[in-house]
Amino acid sequence: MILRLLPLMDTGGIWKVEQTLRDYDCAFETIKVRDRHLILLHTYPDDITSELLQHIPGVEKAVSLLEGEELLQPATPLTIDVHDRTLGPDTFTVIAGPCTVAGYEQLHQTVEALRERGIHWFRGGAYKMRTSPRGYEGMGVEGLELIHRVAEETGSVSVSEVVAVADVPLVAEHVDVLQIGTRNMQNVPLLRAAGESGKPVLLKRGMSATYREWTQSVEYLRNSGCEDIILCERGIRTFETLTRNTLDLTAVPVMHILTGLPVIVDPSHSTGHRSLVVTMALAAAGAGADGILTEALPCPENGVCDWRQTIDLAEIDAMLPRLKTICAAWEKRLN
Ligand code: PEP
Ligand code: MN
Repeated sequence: MILRLLPLMDTGGIWKVEQTLRDYDCAFETIKVRDRHLILLHTYPDDITSELLQHIPGVEKAVSLLEGEELLQPATPLTIDVHDRTLGPDTFTVIAGPCTVAGYEQLHQTVEALRERGIHWFRGGAYKMRTSPRGYEGMGVEGLELIHRVAEETGSVSVSEVVAVADVPLVAEHVDVLQIGTRNMQNVPLLRAAGESGKPVLLKRGMSATYREWTQSVEYLRNSGCEDIILCERGIRTFETLTRNTLDLTAVPVMHILTGLPVIVDPSHSTGHRSLVVTMALAAAGAGADGILTEALPCPENGVCDWRQTIDLAEIDAMLPRLKTICAAWEKRLN
């Protein structure tokens, strides 16, 4: 159940509503979406109905979570504009590129090939957060400079991960969208620093994070002044080991409902297998996602990291027309 409180309620008014809910034995959480306070009821006794809750002074409306979409959506759907490129409810944005930036030729050739195919957003890690201390950790500053150069030369929008608070100013200087990776979703100082950078933030889901934990990280970003947030479902840990993670596509509609933010899907890190990437990208579009973030290279075999989950240009060429067909069903423009 979700309660929407009356507009412009002060803290005292909110506290009174919360107190009534405590008296009713409800477990809840109060969140702010744009200018409105909403109370999400996690558990409540069986005899608590929406009619009863709606009569608590200060409550404007009470509905069940799945009816609550319209309550939680901001008045104007959230759209992220970077330069003149748009990501949001009317578009399906393909963000593609190497896991890790490995040199000018590799990056330029990839981004140029993507641009020829109408893909104007690219990804590429300069700082890599590896699970294994033996993994490649990226080119660092040199990689950032390459990203900057290639973005300028091609006019494409760049997305790259920032892994440490101290790196935020430098990454923000070189990159259009700051990515926060799965291992850092709950790194509060990093969320705050990225939120204060003035750049849009692409926030990946923690591999073991619940939807509520993910929305709480969104709150940290919003509290730091960041409104341009893109969420990315990248698979979660389950008992399954054949795929790298388990892609939770329910996250797409749920996070739309809970945050009103654009939600994209990473079919590379979620599956770990190149042969599954296009299928799950299409499934993401089917679930109403606002885009994908995929690893792609002209020659995946030459990638430094994650080449087993990286698609090539032929796979992109096969994917785009099919994505377009699915996006039409959602009245979204492929970009
Ligand atoms: C990435 O996208 O480069 C990455 C490391 O992904 P994740 O944080 O989801 O593992
Ligand atoms: Mn990767």
